Amino acid sequence: MDFSYSEKVVRLQERLTEFMETYVYPNEAVYAAQLKALTDESRRWSSIPPIVEELKAKAKEQGLWNLFLPDSEYGAGLTNLEYAPLCETMGRSIIAPEIFNCNAPDTGNIEVLARYGSDEQKEKWLHPLLAGDIRSCFAMTEPDVASSDATNIRASIVRDGDEYIVNGRKWWSTGAGDPRCKVAIVMGRTNPEAPRHEQQSMILVPLDTPGVRVTRMLSVFGYDHAPHGHGEIAFDNVRVPASHIIWGEGKGFAIAQGRLGPGRIHHCMRLLGAAERALELLCKRVQSRLAFGHPLASQGVIQDWIAQSRIDIEQARLLTLKAAYLMDTVGNRAARTEIAMIKAVAPTIALRVIDRAIQAHGAAGVSDDYPLAAFWANARTLRIADGPDEVHRMQIARDELRKYREAP
Ligand SMILES: Cc1cc2nc3c(=O)[nH]c(=O)nc-3n(C[C@H](O)[C@H](O)[C@H](O)COP(=O)(O)OP(=O)(O)OC[C@H]3O[C@@H](n4cnc5c(N)ncnc54)[C@H](O)[C@@H]3O)c2cc1C
Repeated sequence: MDFSYSEKVVRLQERLTEFMETYVYPNEAVYAAQLKALTDESRRWSSIPPIVEELKAKAKEQGLWNLFLPDSEYGAGLTNLEYAPLCETMGRSIIAPEIFNCNAPDTGNIEVLARYGSDEQKEKWLHPLLAGDIRSCFAMTEPDVASSDATNIRASIVRDGDEYIVNGRKWWSTGAGDPRCKVAIVMGRTNPEAPRHEQQSMILVPLDTPGVRVTRMLSVFGYDHAPHGHGEIAFDNVRVPASHIIWGEGKGFAIAQGRLGPGRIHHCMRLLGAAERALELLCKRVQSRLAFGHPLASQGVIQDWIAQSRIDIEQARLLTLKAAYLMDTVGNRAARTEIAMIKAVAPTIALRVIDRAIQAHGAAGVSDDYPLAAFWANARTLRIADGPDEVHRMQIARDELRKYREAP
């Protein structure tokens, strides 16, 4: 077993780390201040902190762009295993993924369009997304049904001549608040009579189509995540050309299989980066802070937190890399148990490490002076988003049970 990265990855890692140190970390406070200056509620959702586009231009110029996309025609052509340490590095800052055009949900949507999009769809949506000129959202989850079981999705997509009519209500469509968000990939039912996994389809809906309304933005533990946010969207008799269907009617689940594997493991990679940064902050803080006459670092309990955090991160990283390796070698479908395992593990591990770092910082840990509170809120959502832990565990248990099923 060879644990070393190739020359190409090591070089990219060095360049990315240098970019993070020169431009990203020093500008986190600038981003926060620029966002805070948009005090007027409507401006929070209509303006982008200028530092984002400035840094995007620099990253693009340096070729640190679209690194997530395995497709070498459109992206960097890296395997999942090669991308893992790079994505982890981006996860060290909440603002970083977008700067490298490697942010969810655009990454998943780009992957869908690159793999399953028609030439027309690629021209209209994929190219501007790859250039970072527009953003997109993914609208699957619905307020009225348990959406962790996607067969429950009720939004309807009905063919009418050369058009489809979309009706339904979605929520938690991440990115819908962003003024640059121009299109949604909507999942809905085209045929309720078809076999369970062939009822759903995905369709491209431009957000300026009559009948599309972002009715409200949701908050996450009080964070609004402006300017991207998470929207509730109503689709009332929304008409789009029939050519907007992706791949074909009934392909919704097949596309979701392709989209969710990489999307899930990218979340895990970024969580490792957040956990690493939390541990780094913890270690620095406890060596500089004195309590009861000694640095906090001299306390056994704190050393135990540090040791356990290092063990947690290493375990989760090894499983992430194994899942990435299997995705590259046997495919996303065959790697589904490992993807489910790491998606169930990484948010919990990251939460534990971040929580210890918060505790070690005292009250400072829950403030916005450090990235820890925002990291925690983000990691907590990932025990639910892209499939709750329990659903991944159900999948793992089913695969395990199958091994011992008696032949009929
Ligand atoms: C910050 C954030 C961003 C999101 N972004 C998007 C997005 O961009 N697009 C999008 O479409 N959706 C998005 N989501 C929605 C997310 O994917 C769903 O919330 C998730 O799939 C769960 O669906 P649900 O909320 O309907 O929960 P439900 O399906 O109602 O499930 C509730 C709970 O039931 C339990 N449960 C479910 N099934 C089982 C089982 N088999 N065994 C045991 N317990 C079970 C779990 O604990 C689960 O959390 C986002 C969510 C969050 C929080």
